[in-house]
Amino acid sequence: MNINTFILTKNDCYRAGRKIRPQGIVVHSTGVNQKKMSVFLNSWNKSGVDTCVHAFIGLRADGKEGVVQTLPWTMRSWGVGSGKYGSYNNSHIQFEICEDALKDKVYFDCVFDLAAQLCAFLCRSYAIPIDGIVSHAEAHKKGYASNHADCDHWLKKFGKTMNDFRAEVKRMTDIQTTVEHMIEDGVTTEENRESWEQFLSGKAPMNPDYVRAIFDRYHERKG
Ligand SMILES: [Zn+2]
Repeated sequence: MNINTFILTKNDCYRAGRKIRPQGIVVHSTGVNQKKMSVFLNSWNKSGVDTCVHAFIGLRADGKEGVVQTLPWTMRSWGVGSGKYGSYNNSHIQFEICEDALKDKVYFDCVFDLAAQLCAFLCRSYAIPIDGIVSHAEAHKKGYASNHADCDHWLKKFGKTMNDFRAEVKRMTDIQTTVEHMIEDGVTTEENRESWEQFLSGKAPMNPDYVRAIFDRYHERKG
């Protein structure tokens, strides 16, 4: 997946520079009708802001949905507050999904798909178990976050739950692992990673000629 970078170096959280060993992921949504990530990136990239997360998902400057990393993945974020047992800020990678008016199914599907891809990438990178992925609302119920409803309230509008989301992350993880093995084995190359992930997840139609060409090349190389 394609991840842009805009590290919030002027945010006090970045300046504090504390480290974590990622053991889980907290999925947030912003709670305001504002799809443009730039609005948050600009207003959070300064001193005196008491919140900061590792990434945003929403509209990029070009008007397309995308992912922007805003803190190094192993830096401690200020995303979830604390609950009766402590805070997942000490152990979890956290990201915000920019909300719209919560009525647009196309936008919903797109940003939660990117969220699942991001979670799959992070779970693979840091050996995070998929059941270590929670929403802010779930983190509160477990006693490690302030009392917020995100992002379950948004999922519910479209008949989904965090269990559905975790199942989708599992599916993405399996696809990403498969493509990883294909690259390692020389069946395909890094530049075709995205296409293969699209094929295998059913987001792009499998083109038989393309697949045959790839296997012809593979067999030629293997001799
Ligand atoms: Zn939240």
